[in-house]
Amino acid sequence: MKKLLKSDFEYFKTCCEKWADFFGLKSWCISYIWEEQDALEESSQAWVIADYLNHMATIYFNKEWIDDESLFTKKNIDFIAFHEICEVILYRLGDLALDRFNVTEDSLLQARHEICHILENSIFATYK
Ligand SMILES: [Zn+2]
Repeated sequence: MKKLLKSDFEYFKTCCEKWADFFGLKSWCISYIWEEQDALEESSQAWVIADYLNHMATIYFNKEWIDDESLFTKKNIDFIAFHEICEVILYRLGDLALDRFNVTEDSLLQARHEICHILENSIFATYK
């Protein structure tokens, strides 16, 4: 696994801010943490924890590049940032669904990712 540099994290933050601006998430306070992920957990490159009521979100970015090194590109870092901002947008639906319906976290994750993929294949793919 490739160790990332602080400058990679800074670039990721810049990309997240760009997408937060793009979607007009002005009322959200988004902070960023560069995180060593617990080796026991299933690893992800980035993840979000949000508090909808207070419009606060924390986006974590893994200190290691977990994918194939050939995929380590600025474009892919931007892609991950786009995905995480979509997760912020969709966060509330997940919370509501968990509270009110008999759904599993897994099925919610899957549903959220389906929407993220639609946005990735349309907005992200065509945005210059
Ligand atoms: Zn996701």
